[in-house]
Amino acid sequence: MGMMPGLIGVLAFAAPCVDGDLVTMRVVREAMGTEFEILLCGRDEQSLVNAANEALDEVEDLDQQMSLYNARSELSSINRRSAAERVAVEPKLFSLLELAGEITDASRGAFDITVTPLVKCWGFFRGQGQVPPADTIAAALQSVGMRHVELRRPDRTVHFRRADVRLDLGGIAKGYAVDRAVEVLRGLGITRALVHGGQSSIYALGAPPDQASWTVGIRHPLDASRRIAVVHLRDRALSTSGNYEKFFEADGKLYSHIIDPRTGYPATGMLSASALGPTAAETDALATAFFVMGQAKTRQYCAAHPHIQAVLVAEVESGESLRLVRIGEKLPSREFLKEESSRTERSQ
Ligand code: AMP
Ligand code: MG
Repeated sequence: MGMMPGLIGVLAFAAPCVDGDLVTMRVVREAMGTEFEILLCGRDEQSLVNAANEALDEVEDLDQQMSLYNARSELSSINRRSAAERVAVEPKLFSLLELAGEITDASRGAFDITVTPLVKCWGFFRGQGQVPPADTIAAALQSVGMRHVELRRPDRTVHFRRADVRLDLGGIAKGYAVDRAVEVLRGLGITRALVHGGQSSIYALGAPPDQASWTVGIRHPLDASRRIAVVHLRDRALSTSGNYEKFFEADGKLYSHIIDPRTGYPATGMLSASALGPTAAETDALATAFFVMGQAKTRQYCAAHPHIQAVLVAEVESGESLRLVRIGEKLPSREFLKEESSRTERSQ
């Protein structure tokens, strides 16, 4: 069959399954304030659709558990109660909180799920984007930092050391949900699939029948209809964080929804940051972290963590051009096609 999926925003599916015996099915569902999509290959249409639906049910359950926008979610309950008491956390969510904490340490605080009070004061939670007064930012900063969060492993409890600590899993939840969906698919015997959450995190399970890997595009940060790079993935994840996702402009400056938890101000200098790695939870968190960390720190991170690669699109002060930076030895140039020649330059 000649299905040719096109460009779909941040990420593009460039390689469909094409094989006499195999069919490709695509199942989409709204969850986590966006659209989750599964493309999967196998022999029987109905069992593929059933498998995808089971995986998407899992994503919906996770949305119920981890949403900040749902007062009844476990995360909301943790946020309400953890300053007053030690709150028992569902085991897998507890592990995710631990992973978030590890990435905070590894990124030296660039990724931090306690960023919530800052996200709120900049108007990125429900409100309208606004530049807050400096003392409001300083006050919010006081309660930001994983050092205020105690995770006790033996009884899987969480406790906040300050009353105003609030956790936000917005920087990691979609990737995590992608991983959990893939786990469901694997359990059901699926061996070839692409799963993405809102086009920002994708996992490539196996490969299309006649190919070594799935081909996935990274969106041009200034133009959703163009790709800036193409990568090949097999049993690997890719996540992209971009300033185009959520931002506001004030006094001719653009303020993005990704905030540096150490300064209290939106991260600057980057148009998009992509991370490649073994799980989408990790790449989701790292894409957010790399957006904050910038080129030099991301380079250091990838040198110390060889299973991670990065593709950064940095802002260039003058002119129209972008700076496209590929980081990581395991990202050979043949796996990285620069599609933009006139408006981008590449540096190693
Ligand atoms: P992403 O789109 O994965 O980069 O995640 C961005 C979302 O994560 C934001 O909308 C905030 O809810 C939250 N967030 C913002 N800055 C950070 C940060 N430095 N670390 C962790 N989460 C963040
Ligand atoms: Mg992220």
